[in-house]
Amino acid sequence: MTVASTAAGGVMKSRFGTVKGVLFDIDDTLVDLEYSMTTALREVSEHLLPGLDQAGWERFGRIFTHETTHYYDQYLAGELTFNEQRLLRGRAALGHFGIELADGEESHQWLTAYIQKQPSYVKPFPDVLPLLDVLDRAGIPYGAVSNNVHDYQRAKLDGAGLDRVTHLVGTDTLGVAKPNPAIYLEGVRLLGTEASQTLYIGDNLLLDAEGSTSAGLLGVWLNRTAETAADFSGTAVSTLDELVPLFE
Ligand SMILES: [Mg+2]
Repeated sequence: MTVASTAAGGVMKSRFGTVKGVLFDIDDTLVDLEYSMTTALREVSEHLLPGLDQAGWERFGRIFTHETTHYYDQYLAGELTFNEQRLLRGRAALGHFGIELADGEESHQWLTAYIQKQPSYVKPFPDVLPLLDVLDRAGIPYGAVSNNVHDYQRAKLDGAGLDRVTHLVGTDTLGVAKPNPAIYLEGVRLLGTEASQTLYIGDNLLLDAEGSTSAGLLGVWLNRTAETAADFSGTAVSTLDELVPLFE
């Protein structure tokens, strides 16, 4: 992507038109959730799978983070609690390698250990702080809109050193989740901008780039892992570094 921009009093002229605010997805956009999950998963599961090699642990992590997201959808639909979906995903990953977690104490211990460990591994991606720095310098307000509940995400951002992201919309803010247009528009309202002048940046093609664009924002797909998407005709970047020139 090549962009030319001029900064003037918190208003950016760019290939997007005028940009007066920026909203981010959180998980795997601002913070490396996958790293925190897979690191904690291995730590709390290693005693159950003592002989598993590196490729096995990568497979284990992938089942939890990518192949069992239907349980997260059930959580969003109110059919499971957040921790129930975590346990089901863990059981699926363990089950793939022939380990059955017993109901009751064994499951409780595994889940409790994971809940304790995982937050300590949450950290921002290296390209996040440089972009927030240029936004601060340019006087561009920013915030986050996430498909998890506000207080959990607030603690996650703060724990990752991102307390400067003060504007935050969660699924319990209005009682709707992405891609419902209302959740992106609540973020716009908090920034005090117009949807058509607000970037929305996230790693999920459907929920972030396309959902925000449908709500009238300037959607940007953050494709960190070089996924292919033949039908996608919107704006994509591979790193947040590509957005920095917009605001310098
Ligand atoms: Mg995400």
